[in-house]
Amino acid sequence: NRRIVLAERPKAAPDANTLRLEDAAIPSPGPGEMLLRSVYLSLDPYMRGRMNDTKSYATPVPIGGVMTGQVVAEVMVSNLDGFAPGDYVLAGSGWQDYAVSDGVEVLNLGPKPANPSWSLGIMGMPGYTAYAGLLKIGEPKAGETVVVAAASGPVGATVGQIAKLKGCRVVGIAGGAEKCSHVVETLGFDACIDHKSADFAEQLGAACPDGIDVYFENVGGKVLYAVLPLLNAFARMPICGVVSWYNIPGLPDGPDMGPVIMGTILRMKVKVQGFIIFDSFPRSLYAEFARDMTGWLEEGKIHYTEEVIDGLENAPEGLYGLLEGRSFGKRVVRL
Ligand code: NDP
Repeated sequence: NRRIVLAERPKAAPDANTLRLEDAAIPSPGPGEMLLRSVYLSLDPYMRGRMNDTKSYATPVPIGGVMTGQVVAEVMVSNLDGFAPGDYVLAGSGWQDYAVSDGVEVLNLGPKPANPSWSLGIMGMPGYTAYAGLLKIGEPKAGETVVVAAASGPVGATVGQIAKLKGCRVVGIAGGAEKCSHVVETLGFDACIDHKSADFAEQLGAACPDGIDVYFENVGGKVLYAVLPLLNAFARMPICGVVSWYNIPGLPDGPDMGPVIMGTILRMKVKVQGFIIFDSFPRSLYAEFARDMTGWLEEGKIHYTEEVIDGLENAPEGLYGLLEGRSFGKRVVRL
């Protein structure tokens, strides 16, 4: 049973010393338990936060502990009602080949589901994050301008496509020409600006001639600072993530942006609301999401891009690259 554990807490970007691949015995399920074999492991930006020992909405991974992660797994042995060998499940069993589970918080996907890995992406946590954050906090209205960064990633791509379905003008922000052309040509955004361009802020302003009504915050940093002067009165900012700051060792150098941020929120009467997808919305919203998203995918209204990495041993580099923009679409590891 190969598993990846946290070897040390990174002070900035994680590196070769952060995670360690170990071998352990395959565990045996007891009464009321089942043995799961991981098939796909999701890689997500929040995993960087679990490496830190700071106050957060979730407990950090202990040193020597198996890295946290959602997997799609196959039930190998079951001593539990409702789960049979051959069923696929969605479980939080982490970065390892095998795990024993008591079935709590485990979703049974049934035997041989179509596109099992999609439960980690468009039909799972990132897709639901985009849906709930945009519709319930962003409250986009037809004709408004919605801006989202990490626009080719699973959350941003879904935010922009749902906003298009709601009749908005949608401007994406992504790293590099290839991602930007995918966002416009395949995902159907109205424009996409490369945040690595020297005149990024000017280009963003030109792409938003009527200002910005909804800024779905995924990245923070210079993207946020370019957005602030463009916000319209009563704009909404769902704060979903600030990935450009996840690897920084301390507060960045430079001017204190506090007055600009707070002054803009005040003068433009901006609604700013952070959310964590697991506990920020009524549970009934998930069923609405699953129904809407299933329909949109069947009708070809939402396009989904997935990037599959082979082998658990490649998961650490897969995560580090994702944090720095080297992923394209939703990154999963096939075990
Ligand atoms: P992605 O797979 O899109 O990966 C993150 C992307 O962020 C990178 O690919 C990169 O895209 C972009 N990025 C990284 N650094 C920078 C930077 N300095 N400036 C601009 N862009 C940068 O991630 P997800 O779609 O899975 O997640 C998007 C955000 O949503 C993250 O912040 C994540 O933490 C958050 N999230 C929050 C949840 C919640 O409950 N609040 C739940 C799920 C996700 P590019 O190359 O295009 O710049």
